[in-house]
Amino acid sequence: MKKFLRTFFLCLLTAVTLTASARAAEDILRVGLRYGSGALASVTLENCEGTGYGLGWFDGNRAFHQLTHVEEDKITLSVSGSEVTAASASTGKVLYQFDCSGGRSPGVMPDGEKPQIQFDGKRWYGGFEFRRSGGSKLSVINVVPLDDYVKGVLPYEMSPAWPLEALKAQAVCARTYALLPSRHYGTEGFDVCNTECCQVYQGASQASALTDRAVEETAGITARYNNQYAETYYYSSNGGASESPESVWGNRLPYLVGKPDPYEKLTDIPDYGYTIHYSWKELTSLLKSQGYSIGTVTSAQITKTTPTGNVEEITFRDASGRRVVLTRQDCRWVLNARSLRFAIEEGGSGTGWSVNLSGGTISSLSDTYTVSGNGLVGLFGGGTAYVITSAGTSALPQSGGAVSGGDGITITGTGWGHGVGMSQYGAKAMAEQGYGYRDILNFYYTGITLERAG
Ligand SMILES: [Zn+2]
Repeated sequence: MKKFLRTFFLCLLTAVTLTASARAAEDILRVGLRYGSGALASVTLENCEGTGYGLGWFDGNRAFHQLTHVEEDKITLSVSGSEVTAASASTGKVLYQFDCSGGRSPGVMPDGEKPQIQFDGKRWYGGFEFRRSGGSKLSVINVVPLDDYVKGVLPYEMSPAWPLEALKAQAVCARTYALLPSRHYGTEGFDVCNTECCQVYQGASQASALTDRAVEETAGITARYNNQYAETYYYSSNGGASESPESVWGNRLPYLVGKPDPYEKLTDIPDYGYTIHYSWKELTSLLKSQGYSIGTVTSAQITKTTPTGNVEEITFRDASGRRVVLTRQDCRWVLNARSLRFAIEEGGSGTGWSVNLSGGTISSLSDTYTVSGNGLVGLFGGGTAYVITSAGTSALPQSGGAVSGGDGITITGTGWGHGVGMSQYGAKAMAEQGYGYRDILNFYYTGITLERAG
């Protein structure tokens, strides 16, 4: 009983310390590189400067406390019993044994002015912390100054060849995003992971002079709203209009406002448009595989759009009138659409509609007009379109031989991503037009302030 009480007290103390410190040290991040099923039986580090390491531990404020120093530039850490052993990677000679029974995790800090450690085939700034994982393995955590982390994110989240002001906007987004409440801290003990779940971070290997400059010229600057860090979501392109999170995820944030994007069209965006065709049978299987209950689908229509024209609701019907209604981001995920900016045409192969215009075809009927028998002109409302020919009335043919009202639906859209926050291609386009990173961020995040931390 005594032991239980003591353990409980220790856990409580640790939890309180960590929670408090997580807010105290915003300029140093703990980044999970290997953990869970990715934890390693042994870890080899090489100090790229060719000098040694301090061995010790990181406290709750991420400050390093050295216990000993080794001269070897290449060391291997592994678990042995209740200890973690640091040995020379070349000779195997044991250099130090960390006693982990007190709950402290071993830490390593390389010597040098601005050293980089080689680990996992890449180079990393900062120090490393190792946590016992599953008895005999080690989780690897990079303990790294915030802006060195941003330098390791930038080349992976935006092309390093893009204009400086776009890279600077991305640097502010990445820095701010890293400071939002952690989804990992409570369970895994680090602030951010290094995958798309948080932001892709692969250390210093791919950084260029330009990406480093983008980080340095915005050093410490974050986006805030009402004195809190703004949730700086970003995506590749919005296809013509950004979107509020309310219309995508269901939550409202005052600085994330859907608005027409006049910039994307000013730059060349690969894979900007997309077309997907589903037969009714494929569409039915798709809905069923996602757990929706419906017979063979015979109709699919966008029944609600957002004020900026993005898809917010789609209604599917089968022959007996049974309905499935998709809303918000499900409209995108279930149909494997790249964005929420698309139109649905029933029927056809998606190769276009034959019309009596120069060029001969159009890709969508969504902006076409109809003339009724009494001369009224109206916007075409969807469904099967008919043409009057010398032989009488027939369904409007699609090029390639398909016929309107045929099998399935054709989805025609633009953009790639959720559309909430900054368009990366829009940022590129704005930078190419001469706008600065502040203009870019103020356009995509309405009403934010850009301030240096502290
Ligand atoms: Zn994550």
